[in-house]
Amino acid sequence: MATTVKLNTGALMPIVGLGTWKSKCKDAVKTAIAAGYRHIDGAYVYHNETEVGESIDAMIKEGVVTREELFIVSKLWNTFHRKSMVRPACEKTLSDLKLDYLDLYLMHCPISFKPGDVDMPLDSDGKAFGDDVDFLETWEAMEELVDAGLVKAIGVSNFNHEQIEAILNKPGLKYQPANNQVECHPYLTQEKLINYCHSKGISVTAYSPLGSPGRPWASADDKPLLENPEIKAIAEKHKKTTAQVLIRFHIQRNLITIPKSVNPRRIEENFQVFDFELTKEEMKTLLGFNQNWRAFTMHWGTNHKNFPFNAEY
Ligand code: NDP
Repeated sequence: MATTVKLNTGALMPIVGLGTWKSKCKDAVKTAIAAGYRHIDGAYVYHNETEVGESIDAMIKEGVVTREELFIVSKLWNTFHRKSMVRPACEKTLSDLKLDYLDLYLMHCPISFKPGDVDMPLDSDGKAFGDDVDFLETWEAMEELVDAGLVKAIGVSNFNHEQIEAILNKPGLKYQPANNQVECHPYLTQEKLINYCHSKGISVTAYSPLGSPGRPWASADDKPLLENPEIKAIAEKHKKTTAQVLIRFHIQRNLITIPKSVNPRRIEENFQVFDFELTKEEMKTLLGFNQNWRAFTMHWGTNHKNFPFNAEY
């Protein structure tokens, strides 16, 4: 089983990375690197890039890993879509991470927000104040980051296939997206979007691979993936945990995945996924749980012209 996915830039992206959303993750990043993780997924809007950077720096200084062995991902937030704002936003991330390049920089979302200090500028109905920047313009500014050597590859996140198609068809396109990072797990299997991306040579990263059980807005009516009895039964058969089965499900689909944990035991557990294989039948069972359920609905963006989740895929 390959432990990396080859991007359309030729770079190898480690298939399992550490998610860092919403957490103090200084120790988590160190634990993960010590456990063998080489891919860290972050974003400006997680407001923890300084601590992620301190841990990466410490692990490099201690000789545990080299910069070249690591694959560091960050994301351009929605308030920075205007062309002139893209490079300063990337430079801020690089400075916080104490790095001179990123391996992959993603446009976090196709929806642009009104620029300003507020990450989520919302009106009284909870809808975002949008900006009408064309994401193709943002893409051009991201292409310039590659040329300037600040990032090795660029990609998108939360884009539907029509939006990716718009980038691919952009006159004068210089770099195709290397990756689309989208929510994916057995309740949202994304088969059409994944087939589309793979057919265009675009790798896909599955976010919230465990169904994001720690999201603050989880409701009592949601049925947590990790407690699904049929998935538990598959795990017991392999003497693995439910989380390990969910992570393995992605890598057998050739999807990169980025489970988040700040618990040292679970960080290690989530990386022990290369020593067993789900059968074709088990993969089919897991795919059969699809119900197009999203942990991240982006309800604040439904009025925006680039809201991505109205398209079939
Ligand atoms: P995940 O599906 O990775 O679930 C994380 C939650 O599961 C945490 O509460 C964690 O708790 C718990 N957990 C982790 N491992 C285990 C385990 N082995 N057994 C039981 N529970 C476990 O959710 P996320 O939403 O965080 O998604 C992962 C990453 O994807 C994010 O951190 C972020 O990097 C990225 N992401 C990107 C988005 C985008 O828009 N591009 C949106 C959302 C996420 P604990 O920490 O206590 O272990």
